Amino acid sequence: MEDMHIHLKLGVTDISIMKKYIEKCRELGINKVLFLDHGNRISTKHIPVLNKPQIIKSFFYNINIVKKENPDMEIKAGIETDFSYDEKFKEKEIKNITSYPFDYVIGSVHGMEKSDYIDYLQANIDMLKTYPIDIIGHLKLRKEYQKYKDVIERIVKIATDKNVKFDINTSDRSRWNIQQLEYMLNLFKKYGTKYTIGSDAHCIEEIGYHIKEEYVKIDKILNEDKRDIEYTVVSRGTEKYGSQGYIGITTPIDDKRLLVLSKHFDKYIDTYKDSFEIPIKYTIENIAISRFELMVALTLKPILNLIDDNILIIGLGNLGFTALLYLLENKYKNITIITNNIKDFQTNSIKKLNEDYKANIKFTDSYNMAYNTYIEATGNSKVIENIMETAENLSNIIILGVPREEEYLINPLDVSRRSLRVIGGHELNGHSIKERDNLFKELLEINDKKNLKKFVNIYSEKDDIREKILNCKENFIEVIKYDL
Ligand SMILES: [Zn+2]
Ligand SMILES: [Zn+2]
Repeated sequence: MEDMHIHLKLGVTDISIMKKYIEKCRELGINKVLFLDHGNRISTKHIPVLNKPQIIKSFFYNINIVKKENPDMEIKAGIETDFSYDEKFKEKEIKNITSYPFDYVIGSVHGMEKSDYIDYLQANIDMLKTYPIDIIGHLKLRKEYQKYKDVIERIVKIATDKNVKFDINTSDRSRWNIQQLEYMLNLFKKYGTKYTIGSDAHCIEEIGYHIKEEYVKIDKILNEDKRDIEYTVVSRGTEKYGSQGYIGITTPIDDKRLLVLSKHFDKYIDTYKDSFEIPIKYTIENIAISRFELMVALTLKPILNLIDDNILIIGLGNLGFTALLYLLENKYKNITIITNNIKDFQTNSIKKLNEDYKANIKFTDSYNMAYNTYIEATGNSKVIENIMETAENLSNIIILGVPREEEYLINPLDVSRRSLRVIGGHELNGHSIKERDNLFKELLEINDKKNLKKFVNIYSEKDDIREKILNCKENFIEVIKYDL
């Protein structure tokens, strides 16, 4: 694994820092590094680092020492040069980068964030034409990049003709999202362009940032046939804000499946952080149900002792339904449900659950009765408002859905005067990975003993599946064979 964009800062001349950087790389499994820093800076707000002979000499001196000490690592010395149209600056900086044996010169256009995108792109072209560089640094793909695909393609072509590589920059400032990465890699394929991968670390903690994930993404994109999502769990609820509503289950790898959010990867989703490893002994139905139930259980488990057996669930989607299952499993029997137009599969399932658990689950269409606990599972502000208006003093209000429209905000005065206990939702992010993993395993084990087939509908892949799945709902939890 490589990290070909690491700023050394003080480590340029302080070898003890450089050595710490190398140790950090070792820890992360990075065996090829490009240590560098900026040369002269065009903006006076930025401090130049590698722009004086004694500093640069000291840099090379130290690099040679660490190279000897780490023969198993490929350690390169570089500089990140600032592009400028200012002839004087340009002359000085080109002299700077050509006077020393840098392994790589990264050329970067900085300080044009406020310029028109086309001017920024043109600056990159002009840099390629006038600067002797080896790598083009962090080419930004702004929102509107699609409109400038011809210019971007020209940049790739010119760079390739000049034997300049692309810096696949994994910093939060410059990382391409999955669609952009796919687009650029296809261009690289078309022209035979080479690239390096770099974190653009500006401190030791940032070394290797997002690099491993980038390797995985690149591998997936370059090997399209490596289809590894076998099932997609459809979530129609509030989760669509984060993962676009899709949860993927991979084909078995080493006797395990991986549960990942979204379609393999998404701009905002760090798949490793959001993934679960699941032994293949568990069925797809179990995985799908346990995944939704996990969000419920994370919230309900710590407060079960506060909940009396007189509960209203509002909403019978994936979350509402798994909340029901979780409560039944925890010996609750008196549960009432409010949901829009009750469907046959819902009535039938509830009947079956009443028999299985000897429970008293019923439907209602009003908030008239008093309940000990209200479970909001719609993600609708209006519903929360209704609950707040009707809940008896001392009730529990558990918000499993997450309204994003911010139309209704809970009034602290209501909470305070009526001693309502408002308990927050199902956000996985609010819980540690260990906590989530352990609870998920627990649920898989419990659900393993149940017949879940009747609650999960698995569609096989067909041409019209997308329409079908989005337009109708045939069961509580829907899973599509293969990636949606
Ligand atoms: Zn830069
Ligand atoms: Zn940089």
